[in-house]
Amino acid sequence: MSDTERVLIAGGGVGGLALAQALRHRGVDVVVYEQDPTPATRSQGYRIHIDANGNAALRSCLSAETFDLVRDTSGANDDTLGSYTHQLREVMTQHFPGVTDELITCVDRNAFRRALLTGLGDAVRFGRTLTGYRVTESGRVQVEFAEGGVDEGDLLVGADGIGSAVRRQLLPQAGVKDLGIRCVYGRMTLTEATEALLPEVLEHGFNWVADETGCGAGFAPVRFRSRPDGAADYLMVTLLATPERLGVSDEQLFTHPPQRLCEIAAKAVGDWHPQLMELFAHADPETFFPIKMRAGERVEAWQSGPVTLLGDAIHTMPPFGGVGANTALQDAATLAGELLSAARGEKPLLEAVAAYERIMLPHGFDTIDSSLQLAAQMFGETGYRGGQAAATLP
Ligand SMILES: Cc1cc2nc3c(=O)[nH]c(=O)nc-3n(C[C@H](O)[C@H](O)[C@H](O)COP(=O)(O)OP(=O)(O)OC[C@H]3O[C@@H](n4cnc5c(N)ncnc54)[C@H](O)[C@@H]3O)c2cc1C
Repeated sequence: MSDTERVLIAGGGVGGLALAQALRHRGVDVVVYEQDPTPATRSQGYRIHIDANGNAALRSCLSAETFDLVRDTSGANDDTLGSYTHQLREVMTQHFPGVTDELITCVDRNAFRRALLTGLGDAVRFGRTLTGYRVTESGRVQVEFAEGGVDEGDLLVGADGIGSAVRRQLLPQAGVKDLGIRCVYGRMTLTEATEALLPEVLEHGFNWVADETGCGAGFAPVRFRSRPDGAADYLMVTLLATPERLGVSDEQLFTHPPQRLCEIAAKAVGDWHPQLMELFAHADPETFFPIKMRAGERVEAWQSGPVTLLGDAIHTMPPFGGVGANTALQDAATLAGELLSAARGEKPLLEAVAAYERIMLPHGFDTIDSSLQLAAQMFGETGYRGGQAAATLP
């Protein structure tokens, strides 16, 4: 990789932006194409847990100033993971050792993205949806966009998430499995009045509450260390169950307005502890949206070339265990390390890509396996249809 070589990244999410940061602040020519029309458009979630691996990857990708900005706009540190019955009886509580103020333990997805955009300027092009690519005779990659126009670079990195257009073309055989669990995802703004509704045991960390019917809910507060403009502290509230347990078909779930989803969640916990019911009753109805729980199916290594994949685009991670963003960040750090080594003339570009894929592929899919094992423990026989998942999505 020479000084004049250019890296194209499809997708300005967690992994794509971390990679762009790592390359840009060390002088590599990089451009990110993101389909969202603006940086504030987000629908994939609210709170993201960042673990020790995610911290190390962020340290390696970001300048010290950008890392500090991410940390300063992150959620106040927490070190607990709790599990309770739907009547709020403790099942177990775990405290993680070694959580210091220097570490990031949770971020708000929007604030995180804003911080990851710092200093990238016009290297990130919003409102650009990559539809496909072609490798030219000289071995470069030409990409095209739904909005029109083309661009060319020496390497294309598909960091375009679960529905990756780059994966569809590079690995048409790769499947993403529907786990048969649906998530209704929302939040409750924390005010003096709503803080008073929070059961003491849910005031910190991430807490999982479940009944015996395969219905579970995750609660986790985000209290910003330093509140970004327009942001308020909140409690993330998620409800996970099969469509049968929720009493709605997929068709209904994915067409209902947010307010109706909030009602569905509140109804599903209708016989839970009154304090838990209150949290759904006081959640912000307009913040709710539905998600299908999915997981990438393991793919064999392919012949490395000038197009590669990163994060959910290759190993679509289910949310159990909160490892998807952390794994995407690790991919970004590994790929950046290899590309920077190529930029220093230590190896050819394609050798760097191959070295990255040798680490990323087994690591990504082993992490999916661990996340699915956790799902099986959480949902048992009732909910999770892991082995015989209902459908394999294209
Ligand atoms: C409810 C929920 C909770 C989660 N909680 C956690 C957690 O606590 N911790 C954790 O580590 N992980 C968590 N995850 C997983 C995590 O969000 C993902 O694994 C992570 O965001 C993957 O990062 P990525 O960069 O690969 O993809 P994304 O962050 O999804 O970014 C992909 C980007 O590509 C863009 N894009 C898509 N197609 C195109 C295109 N054709 N052209 C241009 N741009 C395109 C998208 O708009 C998006 O910005 C959670 C996921 C969910 C659904």
